[in-house]
Amino acid sequence: STNTDFTLSIEDLTVSFDGFKAVDGLNFYLDKNELHVVIGPNGAGKTTVLDLICGKTKATSGSIKFMNKELTKLAEHEIVRAGVGRKFQTPSIYENLSVYENLEVSFPRGRGVFGSLVFQRDDEVDSKVREIAAEIMLEDFIDTEAALLSHGQKQWLEIGMLLIQDPQLLMLDEPVAGMSVKEREQTAELLNKISSGRSVLVIEHDMEFVARIAHKVTVLHQGKILAAGPMEDVQKDPNVVEVYLGH
Ligand code: ADP
Repeated sequence: STNTDFTLSIEDLTVSFDGFKAVDGLNFYLDKNELHVVIGPNGAGKTTVLDLICGKTKATSGSIKFMNKELTKLAEHEIVRAGVGRKFQTPSIYENLSVYENLEVSFPRGRGVFGSLVFQRDDEVDSKVREIAAEIMLEDFIDTEAALLSHGQKQWLEIGMLLIQDPQLLMLDEPVAGMSVKEREQTAELLNKISSGRSVLVIEHDMEFVARIAHKVTVLHQGKILAAGPMEDVQKDPNVVEVYLGH
């Protein structure tokens, strides 16, 4: 293949549910430092694409290569270990733990060659927790119980819990749903920072937000790519206009 330089290369990916192709012959490439947003009407197959990448759904055919590993052959936990992080819409944080503790428990405890747990030094964990807390704008809330955070801060905490595992690909499903205007702004900045040094793949419905954050946009429709490229071009594409405004 000529696309081996991409962090993520999806080729001819299809998944059928009882003969219905939710994703139909998808070709998709993601670079390092790229923040790519997938848009499309309800039922287009956006969630299914993320499910396929993280191994929650198994492909009927096709290939998902991530940093030279074939993900379609791996189990979900192996895909996480390969460097893929996924944030769902509903945050799965520990409400009764502090911000610090939530990040601390998410720190990856590596496994040695014989499967034994390798514990990191406490000061190493501590400095990483503090670094991530600052990155997700929660340094002033480090000892706050997660239950007391705002909706937006909870979302950031979950992003931090993924970042502390150092993923090379981070996938986020509607990251600003339910957020205040200020939190949206801050999340845009956060996602921009996060995309430096890794790849970020986002599903988003809020077009203003998409225009603000996306390096590239892919429009899915009925499991296929309708258009792809910079938001300015995609917005003007007659097929996209038809799907969003037509009928
Ligand atoms: P989107 O995220 O773009 O709204 P989805 O990926 O959730 O779309 O769904 C795409 C299509 O695949 C929908 O028609 C949905 O009903 C169908 N689908 C998704 N997952 C399954 C499943 N596990 N079994 C059967 N149909 C599914």
